[in-house]
Amino acid sequence: MLLDPPLPEVAFVGRSNVGKSSLLNALVGRRIAKISGTPGKTRALNVFLIPGLGNRQAPAPNPEPLTPLYFLDLPGYGYARAGKAQRTAFRALVKYALQRERLKGVVWLLDIRHPPSSDDRAMQDVFVEGETHVLAALTKGDKLSTGPRRTREHELREELELPEDQVVVTSAKTGAGIVELRDAIGELVKGE
Ligand code: GDP
Repeated sequence: MLLDPPLPEVAFVGRSNVGKSSLLNALVGRRIAKISGTPGKTRALNVFLIPGLGNRQAPAPNPEPLTPLYFLDLPGYGYARAGKAQRTAFRALVKYALQRERLKGVVWLLDIRHPPSSDDRAMQDVFVEGETHVLAALTKGDKLSTGPRRTREHELREELELPEDQVVVTSAKTGAGIVELRDAIGELVKGE
């Protein structure tokens, strides 16, 4: 799949129902992805052209130019009713997305409340194997109060062996962490 114009790409991946559609909408600031009530409904790779993520830290007279990019929205995994053929197709799709020449990295979504599932672990193995840059977005942060939220963030960082700057707690509901995630994606896109 050749995307025209050629721009940096960032893929979004996570278990179905993790809150991916909601987070995509929150990141872009308008509804770009359909919010599905049925887990695992989206099966194909959706691509969104993002005109620019902006940079809130840029001083007013010389703001950094907006970086246009593509968001590649992969189908949710870990869908209980997924058959063998579906799983195989999903693996092929992930492999294809991760090998794309302009892919800068992946936003990997994990529900802050839950320990990583075996599917999450398998996904992480794929990232390691592909030497993919990963930003972990811990979703639904609003479901926990401040103390437990910090504890879970810390625990997940340890469990996943990810450094602090690669883990962002988010909430599509309250908007918490959205600006931070946007900035982190901006850095990912800038980096080599
Ligand atoms: P997807 O299947 O990964 O695309 O997940 P959705 O975005 O469709 O969300 C799945 C469910 O989680 C829906 O009922 C959402 O309303 C809910 N949800 C998503 N994000 C949040 C969040 O930040 N906070 C809360 N409380 N619920 C959320």
